[in-house]
Amino acid sequence: MSHHSISPAEWEVMRVVWAHDHVKSREVIEILGDKMNWKPATIKTLLRRLVDKQVLSIAKEKRSFIYTPIISEEEMAQEAADTLFSMICAKEAGALIQYLIETHPLSKSDVKVIQDIVAKKMEMAPTEVDCHCIPGQCRCNLIHH
Ligand SMILES: [Zn+2]
Repeated sequence: MSHHSISPAEWEVMRVVWAHDHVKSREVIEILGDKMNWKPATIKTLLRRLVDKQVLSIAKEKRSFIYTPIISEEEMAQEAADTLFSMICAKEAGALIQYLIETHPLSKSDVKVIQDIVAKKMEMAPTEVDCHCIPGQCRCNLIHH
């Protein structure tokens, strides 16, 4: 499970922070205020929640607060993906990865890296992936009453 569960609204704010390395609340308000139809108070609340969740650090500089990410965008995205994959049977992970590869734009260099990973995976791949689900939570281990 993810250690840093953040809401979609908090994620929108984090994207601004990640893009800028560090921001003042005024900058987030300028970038997202109109687009998201959020009041400045809403954005300040989101920033405070992200500090509480230890995703952002806060430091006072002269008269304003500076927010800096504690967790990188890549780590956060990987945690979210890990959380998603923890919710499905391990046997279904392959189908979901196939879906992701088919439905998302990938550059030639992305495809090359994936090909190399897949070639290495092929050497070690089991004939079948083991299920680690609680019996009754997937079709591998149905409990009949
Ligand atoms: Zn299973």
